[in-house]
Amino acid sequence: MQRKNRFRLILGIVLIVALAALLIGYFALRKPAEKSGTSTPSVSLTDSSSTELPTGLAKADPTMKSAASSNTANQKAASSVGQTASGQAEENWVTPVTVKIDPQKWYLTLVSIKYRLPENYQPELTYPVKGIDRPLDARVTPHYVEMYNAAKADGCTLTPYSGWRSISRQKSNYENKVSNYMKEGNSRAKAEQLAAEWILPPGASEHNMGLSMDIVNTQESFENTKEFKWLQEHAADYGFILRYPKDKASITKVAYEPWHWRYVGVEDAKKIKASGKCLEEYLGIYNS
Ligand SMILES: [Zn+2]
Repeated sequence: MQRKNRFRLILGIVLIVALAALLIGYFALRKPAEKSGTSTPSVSLTDSSSTELPTGLAKADPTMKSAASSNTANQKAASSVGQTASGQAEENWVTPVTVKIDPQKWYLTLVSIKYRLPENYQPELTYPVKGIDRPLDARVTPHYVEMYNAAKADGCTLTPYSGWRSISRQKSNYENKVSNYMKEGNSRAKAEQLAAEWILPPGASEHNMGLSMDIVNTQESFENTKEFKWLQEHAADYGFILRYPKDKASITKVAYEPWHWRYVGVEDAKKIKASGKCLEEYLGIYNS
């Protein structure tokens, strides 16, 4: 009888412990899922227009984080060392210029932290992949579709992750970030620099023009996917270039983005690829 009671007691404890473990496990798994949305970069759940950073990639990849801002980050670290850091940061901060679009060569427009689109810029938009709400400039869409289908035939899926994004949306997100940094006691100029570390100013993002697509199909680093290899080999044949190469960040002022592909037309894409230059070098237009 006593033995039976002891057995029941042990059984009861085991059951309680198991239940507690289940509950802990459930909440531990649930929290990050709620925070980061979905683990796969499912296009339906991410609002690309609401944020500069694809949420799923925000931690792994500093999407759209400008190299200018990496400087700022370095200077942030250096600011405790001496006064020169902030002075340097002011110097490095670009004076924006409103970009002029050549109607004949619209596809070669350089949009960057320095060369910004006019606030009222609005391309005509179409959607390259049915059922996926990621528009591009209507003149670029057919080229993306062509590339998408060719890749598909080779077993690669170039899922659109982030295409065109409105300037007004970009502006409100950027201004939110700026005002947060100003609340922390930074000057407007400093707050702008710090904000640009996370989100490019309105008109400075190629996504505002609708000529670029962020292509993501897996959770792993896009650089290691067969899709990335395919793009490196074939994208130029459809007019697309890797806009922010690893070794050109000091020129583009944007950190390496293996997922960001920009339309420049077939002829120029092939030339750019063969030259090993980034768009700034190819056009001879620089950001500083
Ligand atoms: Zn992008």
